Amino acid sequence: MTDVQPDHATATHALAVYRCAVPAPLLTLLDYLPPLNSQAAPLPGTRVWVPLGRRTVIGIVISVESDTDLDRSKLKAIDALLDAQSLFDSPQMALLTWAARYYLHPPGEVFVLGLSPRERRGEPTAPTGKPGVKLNARGIGLPAGALSRAKKQALLLTALQHRPHSLEELADQGLSRAVIRALAAKDLIEYCDIKGDHRWASRDHLDPTEEQQRAITTINSKESGFVCHLLEGITGSGKTEVYLQCAAQVIEREQQVLILLPEIGLTPQMLGRFQSRFDAPVIMLHSGLADSERDRHWAMAREGAAAIILGTRSAVFAPCARLGMIVVDEEHDHSFNQQDGLRYSARDVAVKRAQLSGCPIILGSATPSLESLRNVEENRYRLLTLSERAGGASVPSKKVVDIRGLALEAGLSQPLLSAVHSTLSAEKQVLLFLNRRGFAPTLLCHDCGWLSTCDHCDARLAVHRKPTELRCHHCNSKKFLPRSCPGCRGSRLISTGLGTEQTELTLQRLFPTFPVFRVDSDSMSSRHAMDNLSQQLDTGEPCIILGTQMLTKGHHFPAVTTVGVIDADGLLFSPDFRGEERLLQLLTQVGGRAGRGHHAGEVIIQTHYPDHPLIQAVMNQDYGVLARDLLNERRRRGLPPAGAMAMLRCDSTDFNQGLAFLSAIKAQLSRDSAIVLIGPIPAAMARRAGRYRAQLLLLSSDRRALHHAATQMAWVADGVKKTGDIKWFMDIDPADSA
Ligand code: ADP
Ligand code: ZN
Ligand code: ZN
Repeated sequence: MTDVQPDHATATHALAVYRCAVPAPLLTLLDYLPPLNSQAAPLPGTRVWVPLGRRTVIGIVISVESDTDLDRSKLKAIDALLDAQSLFDSPQMALLTWAARYYLHPPGEVFVLGLSPRERRGEPTAPTGKPGVKLNARGIGLPAGALSRAKKQALLLTALQHRPHSLEELADQGLSRAVIRALAAKDLIEYCDIKGDHRWASRDHLDPTEEQQRAITTINSKESGFVCHLLEGITGSGKTEVYLQCAAQVIEREQQVLILLPEIGLTPQMLGRFQSRFDAPVIMLHSGLADSERDRHWAMAREGAAAIILGTRSAVFAPCARLGMIVVDEEHDHSFNQQDGLRYSARDVAVKRAQLSGCPIILGSATPSLESLRNVEENRYRLLTLSERAGGASVPSKKVVDIRGLALEAGLSQPLLSAVHSTLSAEKQVLLFLNRRGFAPTLLCHDCGWLSTCDHCDARLAVHRKPTELRCHHCNSKKFLPRSCPGCRGSRLISTGLGTEQTELTLQRLFPTFPVFRVDSDSMSSRHAMDNLSQQLDTGEPCIILGTQMLTKGHHFPAVTTVGVIDADGLLFSPDFRGEERLLQLLTQVGGRAGRGHHAGEVIIQTHYPDHPLIQAVMNQDYGVLARDLLNERRRRGLPPAGAMAMLRCDSTDFNQGLAFLSAIKAQLSRDSAIVLIGPIPAAMARRAGRYRAQLLLLSSDRRALHHAATQMAWVADGVKKTGDIKWFMDIDPADSA
């Protein structure tokens, strides 16, 4: 399973030192002596029980050393071994080692990302087969026509005479567990583990367009080992078809394909497309799966039993026995950034992984990140372009509605409402975008100015109607909706601003004969919600879909012809230097949902600032041109991706403690003229979930110098004495700089 071998195998075992990653906030690995009572030598990549302080914890052996700088007599011995073989393949081991170093994060917290839920608990790896049944010796010897009186049992027997079946397959054929138990009681069958068959094959594909063909040929060209391809293709240009056809060739070589998607909601759609194209095991890996399913899929990926692995960001660390290609779909999407624990970009980790595995990677997007565009300009990535919509669909037209002075109903102007009306009358679907959930973002007292604020964050509480309450969108704390003002007891409380719940009500009132589907994290919280919605929308019946940015993530809505952006202004003014890039991506992606079927689409953008340069730019130019302008602007300002950035962030229950901690670190750093050091400063939202947040920021045009400085900063932080309950962590290439 693995080719990681100990440098000092059994002969010198008694003298060896085992360097382990342990679950503790330590930047270092810890050294342990060999287990006292076992002859077997622990291998790198295996789990071991080790003492840590007063506890016994699960450590992972990272390397076997012949000696240690520490006093051997002070070292503790490994208690027990958990595995006979490494759980990590060697590129995965190298990847996790790299991630711990690059992101300056405790290795004990990084290496567990390569383990399945049950492996993290210290249990054995899951069996990869599905539970099933087969005939036992007596069953095989049974004459044909036996059991003819028990019809279902006879059916089961016939099925098993062909081959063993999984319980799932049998249930599909109407053969219940009771029938199976009956035959087992007669001692004719036995339970077993059914593995998938290993003939991997693909079925017919579409005739690629010229551009698609060029991309497929380039990606699959023989000389390639590691190459990073940026597939820049407008929405609906057939990027997925390119992934499918490239995957087909990888599968033919019996190698695995890892596909990363920004969001769980997208996995069923993609799963459907891959399952119908391939006669090979396609599995999903994401947090919405039950642990047992995740355990089994994880093991299938590691054994090489799964051909195609579809997952969200954490799947980038999953084991793969024979990785042949990686795809990151919607590579610009911010969901690829993990925002707690190890803060990483799954896209960047995926590129590193492809490099370590020597295989190609495709980053696909209609709106590539500036990071990736820069890598193309500097010849690190290869650019492939799909400039036309596949399957004959045309690109939607765009229109700005200047809403200054216009009467609005729940944010909707008359021109937008008439477009909705005529689309529905033409039996088509409408998609409306409003990037705020809840009923209204603020509750305000008209008499005294009281505002509904969160007790734990520097934030307002939003008004929600279902259920009726005030809710913080940052820490999720809730309060009763007051009847009268807590400040002055007055009764004139006003919900100000607009959220999806409010617009939904208005749309239902204005268009009573058409269904309104609301798509936000409140309405889509259940596992299958997006799947169910897609099925309803696929019927093509006229309806209104109203949603937040959840709508922009690559979902395919073929019957939508009109897309309305209710409030572009809310997006125009952002404190983050990535604000403009995000706005462009968002508007382009929302617009891209229009007219993906056979009917031309229209995009309508409502704004009070029709002359704003960004709105003008979106109207008159395509994303590719605008993004390259933005990149040049970042170069001029020395901001990422042109400059490198790192942050040391800390939080504590005491505001001053955090700042003092950061000042103590700053005082110990050596000065480097290549580095700009800013801080300590409070975060933009200084208090969140009851904790005060502050940061030190590093910026440099020299990536190596920056990493050097960040490393020094992390080690200094590791050594500074902490008072109170300070937590700190590094954020390398922070996705959010506020
Ligand atoms: P993207 O991933 O770029 O948004 P998709 O791969 O989902 O685009 O393709 C959009 C639509 O065009 C899909 O319905 C797909 O089946 C269709 N399509 C893609 N490639 C072709 C092709 N070569 N010929 C005909 N239809 C195609
Ligand atoms: Zn009041
Ligand atoms: Zn809060």
